[in-house]
Amino acid sequence: MSEINIQLNDGPAAQVGGPITVAEALKKLDRDTAKQALAARVNGREVDLAFTLDEQQNGEPVKIEPVLPETLEGLDVLRHSTAHLLAAAVLDLFPGTKLGIGPALLEDPRYGYFYDVITPVALTEADLPVIEKRMRQIASRNLSYRREEISKAEAMRVFQERDEPLKCQLVDSKGGEIVSVYYIDGSPFIDFCMGPHVPNTNKLKAFKLLSLAGAYWMGDAAQPQMQRIYGTAFFTQDQLDAWMKQREEAEKRDHRRIGKELDLFSIQEQYGQGLIFWHPKGGAIRREMEDYLREELGKRGYGLVFTPHIAKRELWQTSGHEENYADAMFAPTELEETQFRLKPMNCPFHIGIYKSAQHSYRDLPLRYAELGTCYRAELSGTLHGLMRVRGFTQDDAHIFCTPETVRSEIGDCIRFAFDLLGAFGFDKFKIELSVKGSDTTGKYLGSDDQWVHAESALVAALDAQQLAYDRIEGEAAFYGPKIDIKVEDAIGRLWQLTTVQFDFNLPERFELEYIGEDNKPHRPLMIHRALFGSMERFFGVLIEHYAGAFPMWLAPVQIAVLPITDRVNDYAARVGTELRNAGFRVETNFKGEKIGAKIRDAQMQKVPFMLVLGDREVEQEMVAVRERTQGDIGVMSISDFVEMARKLVNLRALTNT
Ligand SMILES: [Zn+2]
Ligand SMILES: [Zn+2]
Repeated sequence: MSEINIQLNDGPAAQVGGPITVAEALKKLDRDTAKQALAARVNGREVDLAFTLDEQQNGEPVKIEPVLPETLEGLDVLRHSTAHLLAAAVLDLFPGTKLGIGPALLEDPRYGYFYDVITPVALTEADLPVIEKRMRQIASRNLSYRREEISKAEAMRVFQERDEPLKCQLVDSKGGEIVSVYYIDGSPFIDFCMGPHVPNTNKLKAFKLLSLAGAYWMGDAAQPQMQRIYGTAFFTQDQLDAWMKQREEAEKRDHRRIGKELDLFSIQEQYGQGLIFWHPKGGAIRREMEDYLREELGKRGYGLVFTPHIAKRELWQTSGHEENYADAMFAPTELEETQFRLKPMNCPFHIGIYKSAQHSYRDLPLRYAELGTCYRAELSGTLHGLMRVRGFTQDDAHIFCTPETVRSEIGDCIRFAFDLLGAFGFDKFKIELSVKGSDTTGKYLGSDDQWVHAESALVAALDAQQLAYDRIEGEAAFYGPKIDIKVEDAIGRLWQLTTVQFDFNLPERFELEYIGEDNKPHRPLMIHRALFGSMERFFGVLIEHYAGAFPMWLAPVQIAVLPITDRVNDYAARVGTELRNAGFRVETNFKGEKIGAKIRDAQMQKVPFMLVLGDREVEQEMVAVRERTQGDIGVMSISDFVEMARKLVNLRALTNT
């Protein structure tokens, strides 16, 4: 037996007899912590609690940092372990199942983990409760997660024997000399995995299976088709219940359902997945978005440009998109021996405008804005309503400036973003600054000097507005650091919308220049920025944020005119015309229905104002006004109503009171 010096986090060192497992060591250091721990880091390395400490190096104490519940790291271990439990249950119920991968999901608001499987007979939604029940049975047997280290050849043999061709592929391509595999003892499950995992299935108490989707092995449409089983897991049942409730609320707000109910947009299989049709009512909202944007672009010194949807293939070679982005681009098409490709981004086109003339430092900054429609070859499995599509319009802009003005330009972009997001009803934000960090992969372009200058310009712009932000290392784009703004919606979900990015790459590749004060050519700096992000995605977020009950200025139908009897139809038609002439979006309901049904219908369509017209209103030349949430708000003259309604629209008011 040897003596080992151990220490809990940065606490005092204690001497224990070795070899000893991490679980036992933790028990000696702090019983409570030992009870709670899910896994641990030993001198920085993630390990299971069953990991054995048998020696220590250079007399330094072995530092044990437990991975505890209620931390992101803990959630990762919990969810990843639950994915294993899911695979064990599927194997148990459907022998012959081939397993793919099963990671934890921490960022996706919809799911907590998945496992990709190919079962002998395809699964249906009805199988999910059955699988979940089997997961509970396995969990209650308190089986151990056991790690083993074996040679690569041995691992290949194990997975071949079990007829797991996909696991063999993984071991073959990713395994080192020694491969780590995990068992859930007492179940038919074994996985090629680095871990760590919870010590036993008893730790998994609050989990749920959510849905089934199609997936391809390796995300590649040429590879075998699989089924993806999604689930989630939390530390306590209360947390899971609260999350399920929020999910239910999210489902009620699902933009795909509301989009259909309010006739806002459609996606039509026969025209192609991921392509959005904006119907007249969705179009009305789109127009309000665009009008707001165009007004502001004008005020803020942007020039509005329009560019083609397609360009010669060479352009995308020069820009580097063919090299770095080809997977997301539609294949080339040929005309008279020249190849063309659809644009996945607008940047090279704005560069084309910049390059069409010579510029002096006095011309800069130049700000080109475009509602630019782009196309990306997203796989069908990743498409999701308006949120992830194949054709979309960015409210894109590119700013070409000198190093002296870049800081204020970035500051202006951020202010613009907050004004815009605020106008549409978002008042809670999360800002992320993504930087290169201590990256050594070499994927980042540009010199260290450029990165330092760019990052400091972004930081200075954030600091000048006293904005709190998270600094995220290694998440920058390969061509420069960026600021992302996420908004929190009405039910607390975060959506990434605005992005402001530095670019060292394109000015270099396209050899952009301006003539400086010194009469010599210089390279301008380039900023990409989109505020809505994509019009389609922002529209989707907007629908879910308001659950379809848009404020007056955005509502596709602002006023419903509802005659009580046919006798007043002429008057109703006249009121409708008058309101339309005053610039409102109006629907007059002449159906031979009772007034109650007409009100209910307008209420379902979430129309902000209803004008209920009967004989008395005709006699007095008045309208009886109902507001969507307040009900009756009184009888008034048409001109008084117009004045009130116009005020709400002109102010872009978010409520009607
Ligand atoms: Zn694993
Ligand atoms: Zn761009």
